[in-house]
Amino acid sequence: MSAPLRTCIGCGHKAPRDEFWRFKSKSGAAPVFDPGDRETGRGASLCKRPLCVEKAITRRAFERALKLKQPLSSGFKDQLRQLNAESGLKANS
Ligand SMILES: [Zn+2]
Repeated sequence: MSAPLRTCIGCGHKAPRDEFWRFKSKSGAAPVFDPGDRETGRGASLCKRPLCVEKAITRRAFERALKLKQPLSSGFKDQLRQLNAESGLKANS
């Protein structure tokens, strides 16, 4: 069995799921960061790159991919950017 490929909601890049951050939303509720990909519900994948985080935010990709009932909260956007900051060493490679 081969691992299913996921698609980045920021840039459309396809790769195995461990290359992405995973987010989940249940019934259109606010998304949660799901590093272990354990939650149920609709999922979204995002490259571990600042560029993709910003693209996903500005294009409302989370709202579309997860069929959110409300726009992303500023708290969630802050959380995304925090993930970025923590992986910043890889960001410019
Ligand atoms: Zn991407």
